[in-house]
Amino acid sequence: MKTKEVIKLYDKYIMQTYTRVALCPDRAKGALLEDIDGKKYLDFFPGWAVSGIGHCHGKVVNAILRQAPKLMHVSNNYYSALQGKLAKKIIEHSFPGKVFFCNSGAEANEGAVKLARKYGKSKGRFEVITMEKSFHGRTLAMIAATGQDKVKDGFKPLPEGFKHVPFGDIEALEESIDEKTAGIMLELIQCEGGINIARAEYVKKIREICDRKDLVLIFDEVQTGMGRTGKMFCYQNYGVKPDVMTLAKSLGGGLPIGVIVASSKFADVLTPGSHASTFGGSPIVAAASLGVFEAIEKEKLIGNAVKQGKYLTKKLEGLKKKHRSVKEIRGMALTIGVELNIEGEAVYKKCLEKGLLINCTQKNVLRIMPPLTVTKAQIDKAVAILDKALEE
Ligand SMILES: *Cc1c(COP(=O)(O)O)cnc(C)c1O
Repeated sequence: MKTKEVIKLYDKYIMQTYTRVALCPDRAKGALLEDIDGKKYLDFFPGWAVSGIGHCHGKVVNAILRQAPKLMHVSNNYYSALQGKLAKKIIEHSFPGKVFFCNSGAEANEGAVKLARKYGKSKGRFEVITMEKSFHGRTLAMIAATGQDKVKDGFKPLPEGFKHVPFGDIEALEESIDEKTAGIMLELIQCEGGINIARAEYVKKIREICDRKDLVLIFDEVQTGMGRTGKMFCYQNYGVKPDVMTLAKSLGGGLPIGVIVASSKFADVLTPGSHASTFGGSPIVAAASLGVFEAIEKEKLIGNAVKQGKYLTKKLEGLKKKHRSVKEIRGMALTIGVELNIEGEAVYKKCLEKGLLINCTQKNVLRIMPPLTVTKAQIDKAVAILDKALEE
């Protein structure tokens, strides 16, 4: 099949919920991707940050191949050794507590909000405050939680119990807290929102407020988790621990997974019968995810993310000097936003034509998130393509 024929199938049989470009990937390894027509690309936004350690990483592939013939799924009314091992791994890398396994970012956030509500119930609290320009997923409750109108259009009435305040504004946040407030949920870097980075002082103050008022502090690390900010989890750059953290995207190395991580104090809020998932934490997905951790640890990928992040940022700063259309470079390690003075879509499309995959969000921010395994040579090539695209 060729891309054109695949597109015909989509036109006929798949709901048109995405704005797609005419690219049909067929195979990929690391940051290299080949489409079904044989054209090669450099992928600096692998799977919307899902393939964080690169496409088809050997350790993940082997883990899946070993596990698939043995056991793929068990009911969560039984035990799974792999699920147990993965939970231990996540807790050892984050903070003392317990985890709940589900299958996606939205589901993890939804569960975190359920946890906050259950914790607040005895005091009559249920509301969760979130940030403007946030993104928390596409279920009904998570579009209510998301601080962007465009995701809510056409779906009202939405579940109650959310309100939004401007990101970075501590006074607005304090003012919005009332007797109904159960928790605060935010991304430390708003990725979908345009790579907006929370200031350290702001995050510390939020922590203080939550401690003082006994509110549940939830960090949505669905996109920032697993090394791409230069630490395993982004909060570790701040020295501020959440009560609850949600993970998904690159945690599964390409397979679907979501996790709620709750610190000890909140680890037993969700009780038997109060929350569940049919697929959550299945042996096949847990095996893949353990492969991701093994790769990050053994191949020192976080060190590489820091090193290559510095190099990439320096090279992008060079482009800023050269092109007036580049307004600002911001990011952490390999989570980078290039804000333009012009619309980003044409630039993004030029890059695609020339064999570089990146993303454009909020109309004028190029989102560049290469895999943790990226090399200097790949960065040189990618920046050269972006340079030409900006020129044109
Ligand atoms: C992608 C994303 C989600 C939603 O995850 P899904 O797996 O698509 O449900 C939630 N929060 C953040 C920060 C994300 O980047």
